[in-house]
Amino acid sequence: MSLLGEKCVRCGVRTKNLYQVKPTCPSCVEHIKLVLASAREIRRACPADGSELAKEVVHGVIIDRCPACKGVWLDAGEMERMNEDVAAEVWKTAAFARTPFG
Ligand SMILES: [Zn+2]
Ligand SMILES: [Zn+2]
Repeated sequence: MSLLGEKCVRCGVRTKNLYQVKPTCPSCVEHIKLVLASAREIRRACPADGSELAKEVVHGVIIDRCPACKGVWLDAGEMERMNEDVAAEVWKTAAFARTPFG
């Protein structure tokens, strides 16, 4: 291993941190853990069309995204865990979130 560490397998940043024997920077380790945690969460149905929501990790927050209508659904606490910048980013990608039917 070089003095600067190896390249993170996920984002390419130099890191000396290891996760499951692969060089992985601490922020990517957090992301991977969240993705793993989200996989264990109960999947919910889209309130609009009943499709099974897919779990996504956006800036450290687990969100439910509907593959059919692209709506994003958040638990009450999930929004509060985001800072404003992150929330703006999420809503930018979630133009159809929480729009009334039709
Ligand atoms: Zn990384
Ligand atoms: Zn939907």
